Amino acid sequence: MITHTLVINCGSSSLKFALINAQTQDTTLTGLAEKLGMAGACITFKQAGQKVELTLAQGDHAGAMKAILSYLDERALTGSITAIGHRVVHGGENFHASTLIDDSVLAAIEDCARLAPLHNPANLLGMRTAQACFPGLPQVAVFDTAFHQTMPQHAYLYAVPMALYREHGVRRYGFHGTSHRFVAAEAARMAGIPLENSAIVSAHLGNGASVAAILNGQSVDTSMGLTPLEGLVMGTRSGDIDPGLFGYLASALNTDVDGITALLNKQSGLLGLSELSSDCRELEEAAANGHPGAIIAMEVFCYRLAKQIAAMVVALGRIDVLLFTGGIGENSPFVRANVLNKLAFLGFSLDAAANDAAFRGKAGRISHADSTTALVINTNEELMIALDTAALTQGK
Ligand code: AMP
Repeated sequence: MITHTLVINCGSSSLKFALINAQTQDTTLTGLAEKLGMAGACITFKQAGQKVELTLAQGDHAGAMKAILSYLDERALTGSITAIGHRVVHGGENFHASTLIDDSVLAAIEDCARLAPLHNPANLLGMRTAQACFPGLPQVAVFDTAFHQTMPQHAYLYAVPMALYREHGVRRYGFHGTSHRFVAAEAARMAGIPLENSAIVSAHLGNGASVAAILNGQSVDTSMGLTPLEGLVMGTRSGDIDPGLFGYLASALNTDVDGITALLNKQSGLLGLSELSSDCRELEEAAANGHPGAIIAMEVFCYRLAKQIAAMVVALGRIDVLLFTGGIGENSPFVRANVLNKLAFLGFSLDAAANDAAFRGKAGRISHADSTTALVINTNEELMIALDTAALTQGK
């Protein structure tokens, strides 16, 4: 009998889901409910090349979950679901790995909400709604931060008073851990080296972006910190800035912390620099047509990325593999070429034809045979969540 894992990624106004076949690891169904809690809430299901789009009569998270349940019921799929896996953004220091959800786990995730006030409450809502709609099914939480819990103290501490770490949890946590863990294992396999004896830099480049230093399969450093704002230039996020900017802008713009935080999260990055778009593909096209904002935005993006990758090599002591993943990493030969050329001093030599061919789901090696290995890997966070969920629930 075919069995499935339902994977849920619940945001404050959206709910992304996937049904993964536990035997073949293939994705049977994907979908997205959007504008939850707003006018025009809707849900889309994609299965076997077919797309079904529905308006949600009950336009909240519970309404979305009920719509998923009735879609599955109509196709006799509900009975095949053996477990539910949830993406959770912040596990703080409480969670070093994925875990079965019970009341104490829910309470600990709630406790981490102070560190991720936009994300954890939405993730919790997803878990509670799923528990109500699928009573009796085991549920698993998979944390974005868990993979980075192996970082040593010298990598995760900020140089601020230690009391802030002890009393308020102020430290670097890192994010995108589920993706970094998945692609690092894939990269080791593709490069033909044992993960247990490898030094990998993973560059997850999407609207949010981070790099991670992965030594022998464990994260030893990453570019994101207490929040997903630190590190690389992103679609609308600034990445690293001088923290003195807060005081300076508070008086220059006569605004408060919330205003500056919003500016750094939503109006900065590629969008802020280019004054055109947060979308890398659009910027590449505009840069090719000579748009000065797009040209400088892409150059700052690539320069800062190369600088962060080199910093990760300090954490590793050597580099066996650099991998690119995420929407930009998997699809932008321009960014990959620019970055590899800047990193020639680490032994990278770009195979331009292979780089141009690695596009739209085509993974592969993009460096010459005598070069340090650079790979494009397709990430699959949903599959990683499903695999963790299956491992923790088998026989339950
Ligand atoms: P993600 O958040 O992983 O879905 O990635 C979204 C980012 O990937 C956006 O900036 C897109 O512009 C970028 N992207 C997707 N396809 C391409 C492409 N063909 N060339 C450059 N960037 C792309």
